[in-house]
Amino acid sequence: MPDHFTSLETGKPFTQCCACEGLLSEKDMYIVNKSFAAGECVFELAMCFECREELNSKLSEESRVAMFDFMHDHADMEKREATLGSDSDTEDYIAKCLTCGVDAKGLNNYTLGGMFSGDHLIKGPFPMLICGSCEDKLNETISDETRDVWDKFIGEHFPGPPSEATLPTGSKPVFL
Ligand SMILES: [Zn+2]
Ligand SMILES: [Zn+2]
Repeated sequence: MPDHFTSLETGKPFTQCCACEGLLSEKDMYIVNKSFAAGECVFELAMCFECREELNSKLSEESRVAMFDFMHDHADMEKREATLGSDSDTEDYIAKCLTCGVDAKGLNNYTLGGMFSGDHLIKGPFPMLICGSCEDKLNETISDETRDVWDKFIGEHFPGPPSEATLPTGSKPVFL
């Protein structure tokens, strides 16, 4: 597993889904999200695909479409796939912001998303990096409904910070 996607809290790969607490080794696929502010990881999670789907299912069709549209309006997924395919170096997928193309070097605020099966990083649309300013744009794009669902989820599964917690940047974590 690339270091980018190990847990900062434990220094090791994630082992459990943050929502159902099931073992990730027993899941077909799972997603790892890590948000960085001032270069430090401030929010991290691993979530199995079933829980991810369940979370998505709590959103209205409209909200799901808005999220999808943001990615597809701002990122050329076809070009990305043609360039990177499914077997480029991990670094190549996260060298630039997915949606604005800014160079990731020198970025202090960003979120990383990776999809795994066991220890294996699945390459395709993921892994991806979204810069802080695109996160802000995404946060503006998503509906209050989406934000409420995400905030509730964070509140339920991350008892540390209060559910209204914001990142040190003032924005809220986005789910990739
Ligand atoms: Zn789960
Ligand atoms: Zn960006």
